[in-house]
Amino acid sequence: MKRVDIIVPCYNESEVITMFYENADKVLSEITSYKFEFIFIDDGSSDDTIDKIKGFAKKDKRVKYISFSRNFGKEAAMYAGMKNSGGDYVLIIDADMQHPIELIHDMLSAVEEGYDCCAAFRATRKGDPLLRTFFTRQFYKFTNKISDVNMPDGAGDFRLMNRNMINAVVAMSEVQRFSKGIFSWVGFRTKWINFENIERAAGQTKWSFWKLFMYAIDGITAFSTAPLRFASVVGSFVSLSAFVFLIYIIIKTLIFGPDVGGYASTITVILFIGGIIILSCGILGEYVAKIYMEVKNRPIYITKTSNIGESSGEDKDGDN
Ligand code: UDP
Ligand code: MG
Repeated sequence: MKRVDIIVPCYNESEVITMFYENADKVLSEITSYKFEFIFIDDGSSDDTIDKIKGFAKKDKRVKYISFSRNFGKEAAMYAGMKNSGGDYVLIIDADMQHPIELIHDMLSAVEEGYDCCAAFRATRKGDPLLRTFFTRQFYKFTNKISDVNMPDGAGDFRLMNRNMINAVVAMSEVQRFSKGIFSWVGFRTKWINFENIERAAGQTKWSFWKLFMYAIDGITAFSTAPLRFASVVGSFVSLSAFVFLIYIIIKTLIFGPDVGGYASTITVILFIGGIIILSCGILGEYVAKIYMEVKNRPIYITKTSNIGESSGEDKDGDN
């Protein structure tokens, strides 16, 4: 019988984790043609999320967990789950009940049909703040235009993938991960299904506007070098204009003699060029920082405790 691993990244989800587990258990018990296993990733929660997960593991042999030494972010949590999964299929799902696990029926039929992956996207952003929705839309439009990956708006990480695709995703071992881009970059055939946006069952979102903004910049710089080219193009354009202007001034001075004044135009040009220089340095800096972080080659996550690879369900220490 084929096995499906359910990967659940959890960060301070104490309020919903039991509800999630019980509901998932109920839905999955109706499917008899597959075996299931849970891999809960406790992403350095400061509440008692891990204790609750250990509670599930005590009663249920299918429950595996990895607990991080600190908060490494959802990207790291998903990576840890995929890396430690051995199932034929892997489902990535949020712990907050925003991803209806019932969709697993459709997802399984899609992969049986021959798709490598079945991903769910939110058809609406009902319940999201308007400003956030607006900026997210613009981000997807912009990123899809300038990068070589295509990320549909509303696509989250809620998806079922087969072993081939999982192996490809895990093989991309970059430290600064942007899964939405990685899933698209590796290729494979993906079936898209949509679902209605559901509000969080309890607890609160870990995403502030600022965090999302930073995430957007990471997404753009991870899959495109177009901003660097933008700096070169704007730089060339400004230099060329400056050169034309210079010739104009020389000729004008030769014919009409020097004129004083022109404060407004001078200051405008200086500020404009200054702005472009700073912007270009900033863009360059983004990429240099990325190179810096990658060459350090630090682990993507560090495990504090885990019950993977043991049968008794007791703790094991070690890192990845
Ligand atoms: N999450 C995580 N590490 C983090 C932030 C979030 O593992 O640093 C998990 C979180 O527990 C949840 C999922 O990622 O299961 C989605 O997070 P959240 O609901 O905060 O994001 P949103 O649904 O608002 O995009
Ligand atoms: Mg959520």
